[in-house]
Parts: sequence; structure tokens; C-alpha cells
Amino acid sequence: MPALNATHDPARRSWVESANAPGTDFPIQNLPHGVFRRASEPWRGGVAIGDMILDMAAAVDAGLFQGIPAEAARAAAEPTLNRLMSMGNGAASALRARISDVLKTGSEAQALASRILVRMAEAELRLPCQVGAFTDFLTSTFHTERGGRRTRPDSPLPPNFKHLPVAYNSRATSLRVSGEAVRRPNGQRQTPNGDVVFGPCVNLDFELEVGLFIGPGNPLGEPVALSAAPEHIFGYCLLNDWSARDIQRWESFPLGPFLSKSLSTTISPWIVTFEAMAPFAAPAFPRAADDPKPLPYLTCPKDQAEGLMDIALEALLLTPRMREAGQAPARITLTNFQNMYWTFAQMVTHHMSNGCNLMPGDVLGSGTASGPTDDSRACYSEITEGKNPVTLPNGETRLWLEDGDEIIFRGRAQATGAVPIGFGECRARIDPAPAWPGM
Ligand code: MN
Repeated sequence: MPALNATHDPARRSWVESANAPGTDFPIQNLPHGVFRRASEPWRGGVAIGDMILDMAAAVDAGLFQGIPAEAARAAAEPTLNRLMSMGNGAASALRARISDVLKTGSEAQALASRILVRMAEAELRLPCQVGAFTDFLTSTFHTERGGRRTRPDSPLPPNFKHLPVAYNSRATSLRVSGEAVRRPNGQRQTPNGDVVFGPCVNLDFELEVGLFIGPGNPLGEPVALSAAPEHIFGYCLLNDWSARDIQRWESFPLGPFLSKSLSTTISPWIVTFEAMAPFAAPAFPRAADDPKPLPYLTCPKDQAEGLMDIALEALLLTPRMREAGQAPARITLTNFQNMYWTFAQMVTHHMSNGCNLMPGDVLGSGTASGPTDDSRACYSEITEGKNPVTLPNGETRLWLEDGDEIIFRGRAQATGAVPIGFGECRARIDPAPAWPGM
């Protein structure tokens, strides 16, 4: 984690009043990057502040960025943020310092900058970068054990789980930002009586995860030490790894998930930077005395001391009936990122350890962030096990997601002596499966 500096000062406030509201996700201590547009204007980079967006393209044109952060500011104004990510966290940090100075109370730039703020409510957001590759990990023991108990009751964790962060290569092309509906997939499954059929998924599920955006990355064949892995972490988002469990159960042996996961993945549109998360660093997951010690390439003291983050994560469900009645969504999960057995730095180093090259804008998913308690189970396959329906506050029940259901994630980082910061929403509604051509 980078050192704390003036941008994290809890006493710092913004002349953008909504950024000082106690519940805001986007106080001046956050300053996440995204890509947005108004109506038919071109896409450009922006920075969230309260309920407004600092239009980085207009800010550069207005001359707000001179000297060292000028090139980073131009990169942050582009319609994809890959170039900013490639410049490394030193550049991102210099840029953050200047943006914070522009937006802080008493800034000399207030008169200029206040004219180029855009209301978030008037903006459309899209994927903040071109995502060349998306890898999804499996790093919560609690999630993995609940799943494993059904098939391997004696040893629910796979034998490799505590030796390496398990992952599969998922699909980058079907990543979407919050707000775009997800179509229930068609797929092949085996029914309980052994028939193999094709049709709309009947066990559609969510997975509550944190996403990571890769910064500079590594050339092919050149791995990166764990102590240097944080230099390749540009920032974070919330990530919903939609999962078609019936399709997954049937297709996954021997090679793992395929169509059950590539149907779509939803992420929150704002990237909370690596530096913004500094106050929320937390120790790595405590390993039991009889757990294997991680191999040297997956161990360093700094990562053990501060490799996780204190992020409260919640999932909410809004059903069509709740929506029609004007009811608020019901919380179905409350968990924390500290439940992960492996740190993001360990995931990055392990991913690069065979020489595989990660590129700016690649996305890693943390894996379902389930905790030990019942209310911290972070997907329906853990909550209902496909057989114990849950009852919602309005009396409806769910085993799996139904058409019209909307899943909403929120995340909030918190620490003593720091202003809490949030991620914005990651939400999507389930649309019905498309009719199969000719059937
Ligand atoms: Mn997942």
C-alpha cells in the first residue's frame, strides 16, 4: 500500500458540497476514474466527486493540469483509460494529488473547475477501458468449502487451495458495466433423472466479488515478484460473476467453467484507485497453524501485513413485485473482502509466475467473497443450496434468480481515522432467455 498523504487527509473537504455528505461514495478522498458522456457528446474520461463528474477532457482544455501530471491528465481524459493504466501508479498518484488540489475547499481553480462539472445523473457510463482478458479466481475458503461439502464432504477444499490461488480464464468480451440487463442464457444441462436437455438456464446465480484492473503489466516471459506486484494494480471495482449453475455442473469436468460463466459479467463503472484504498489496508487472512506455509514466491512481509482491504460488501435483490410496489431492494448478503484467503498481490504474482503477460486494463476477479456466517454467503448456491428457498421481506421466495430480478452490489471501505469511500453501484436486471432460433 502507498503511504498516506494529503489526498487522504480526513479533514480535507471539497467545494463540491455533495462530496462532503456523510453517506457519499465519492468524497474528495476517493476520486475514482471512469468514462462517460452526455447525450450525443463523445466519450471521455472523468473523475467522480460527490454527485458530479470532473470532465477531464474539459479540465485539460481549461489548463488545469500543468507540469508533471499533465500527460497523465491527458490519458485520464481519453475515451479508454488503458494508457493511464500503463503509465504506472507514480503517474496516477501525481494526477490524484493535482485533482484533489483542484477540488479541495479554497482551491484557486474553483471558479474554472466549477464550470466544467457534469451532473452524474445526466451522464452515461461505459466500460472504463478496453479489457483484453478477464481471469476469475476462487479465493474464499468459506465459499469453496460450502460448495465442496456437497461433493467432497470429507475434504471440501480441493488439495491445491491453500497452496495457490485457483483461477480460470473467463471471458473479456461479455464484460458490461452496471445498468445493462443480463439475458438468461440457454444451455445444456443434465436433469435429476439423467436426461440431457438444452434450454433456458433454471439455476441462474450471482457471485459477489471485487474486480481488479491491471496497471503496467509484464512482458511475456518476465514474471514479477510479490513485493513488486502492487505496482501493477491500477484500481478496483465491484464485479458480479453471473453463474448458470445447472450448465456449470454439467460442463465443468474435466476442464472447469465455460458457458456457465461467459454469459456476461457486470462491473461497477468507477475505478477506485490503488492509492485511494491505502487507508483501508488490512492484514492477510490468518492461516491456521496446520495450514501449509505459502511457497516463497507467494510470501513477503509487507503483503502479509497489509495485502487485504477492509471493504464491506453487500448484495441486494429487487424483484419485479418489489419494484411495482415501490419497495426498496432487500439485502441478501453482507460480507467483507477480508474473508479472502489470498491477497490480490498474490493473485497477480501467481498469474504472472509462468511468464504469462498481463496487459493494462486486464481484469481479475477476486472470487466470491463469502464469509463464515450465514448472512455473509455471497451467492445463491451457498444460501439455498438449490433446495432451501429463502423468504424475502415481502413474502416472496427464491431458490435462484428469476426473470425481472435485479441484483445490486454496494461496497464501502472503512477504517478508523479515515473518511469512508464507496464504489458506486454494480447492478443488472435479468431479462428472459432469447427464443432459440428455429425451435
Ligand atoms: Mn466467480
